[in-house]
Amino acid sequence: MTDTLAAQAGALRLHAGDWARRGVAERIAVLARWSAEIAARRPALVAGLARDTGRLALSEMEVGAVLSSIERHSGWARELLAQGKERSSADGAVAIRDAPVPYGLVGVVSPWNFPLQLALIDAVPALLAGCAVLVKPSELTPSFVPALRESIAAVPELAAVLSIVEGGPAAGAELVRQVDAVCFTGSVRTGRLVAAAAAEQFIPAFLELGGKDPAIVTATADLDVASSAILWGSTANTGQSCMSLERVYVEAPVAEEFVERLVAKANRVRLAVPEPADGELGPFIDDRQADVVAAQLADAVAQGATIRCGGQIEVHGGRRYLRPTVVTGVNHEMTLMSVETFGPVIPIMVADSVEDAVRLANDSEYGLSGAVFADPEQAALIAPRLLAGGISVNDVCLTGLVPEGEKQAFKSSGLGPSRMGPASLRRFLRQRVLLTRRSPRIQPWWYDV
Ligand code: NAD
Repeated sequence: MTDTLAAQAGALRLHAGDWARRGVAERIAVLARWSAEIAARRPALVAGLARDTGRLALSEMEVGAVLSSIERHSGWARELLAQGKERSSADGAVAIRDAPVPYGLVGVVSPWNFPLQLALIDAVPALLAGCAVLVKPSELTPSFVPALRESIAAVPELAAVLSIVEGGPAAGAELVRQVDAVCFTGSVRTGRLVAAAAAEQFIPAFLELGGKDPAIVTATADLDVASSAILWGSTANTGQSCMSLERVYVEAPVAEEFVERLVAKANRVRLAVPEPADGELGPFIDDRQADVVAAQLADAVAQGATIRCGGQIEVHGGRRYLRPTVVTGVNHEMTLMSVETFGPVIPIMVADSVEDAVRLANDSEYGLSGAVFADPEQAALIAPRLLAGGISVNDVCLTGLVPEGEKQAFKSSGLGPSRMGPASLRRFLRQRVLLTRRSPRIQPWWYDV
């Protein structure tokens, strides 16, 4: 495996220089042809994703997200990478020109929860910035890889600078040793290992890790909107999403009404059985993930929490499912409120005041994203107080749905510049500046010798 991966990295490096020299317009044209090849393989990609994940609509959404990401990043690339114009230093004597240099080979290590989208989310801007890219998707969701490889092979200029390598943790670790910059999406635990390995290599590591996103619902919120939004934001993809809402803080006067509305709606969500198209909620990725969620629920109940709906792991067709599970009577002593859950669980805590809700929301080792539901004036005061990179106001998961908004992960949720917005391209360029003295002469501060 090591030989194969090193050989693939070596082959990509051979072509990286040519790719960088091609210029933005040519790279955009190559990626446009790739986009057409991906679109032509949409059914095979969706089938592969649905086979491994057990969900259909989100698999279709993943292919659409990749296609629009290529288009969007191509637009930003045109603006950002156009040759830098010369400008003057403050005294006018020196000309300044930006001449950025792409990292040669970028490595991408991605997780299983959005297998295709997250395999390519960093690869697309890196390619447009002029880097070669080696991607290692999660070993738990390999079925989309053959169709993706075919799409790459159909565009030879791209195949020279983009490869997919398969394998588990050992392949991921080896990939970090072979590249000039690494983009990692996954758990905090693995992220720390990748960061340490990158430090040894002295290469940058862009880390997008786990979360325990809070939602605040105040007494001025539209409870119909808040309950529908939080139900979806906590359970989409079976809660197996980094920006899943995993903690809800509701102001006391509206807490019971909010819970009642939420439970009523949660009970109407269907499991996607026997076929992925038959419902909204797919299975856990594997039994281990179902065990993690069951253990957190058992711990919460043992400490006095009440399960208001859902709560029982079900087995259908050999895979494990959980209906939307609303839990009340929780506190921060419970793992359900402190450790990433990654399941369709909505734990709700009553807050005595807005102050209390903000304090509780910020009481976490994570800082990925969050949500606030309140009247617009109050929400505008609360949202900037949350210690997380992306806050949705009167909606959920907008950080994933609105890709223009630049954001960083706070605390243990990650490291590095924004992977959203035009910054997603800039981070693959090492800044270099050319400084030209316009009228060369002996300078008074040089040695007078
Ligand atoms: P994981 O950390 O177990 O694995 C992620 C990837 O890392 C896999 O491809 C795996 O093979 C590889 N890997 C494992 N050990 C490695 C090592 N020592 N060196 C290099 N690579 C190694 O994560 P997962 O279970 O696949 O994904 C779920 C996690 O991902 C959750 O914590 C979730 O919050 C997080 N996630 C974060 C974002 C984000 O944008 N912040 C997005 C999606 C998922």
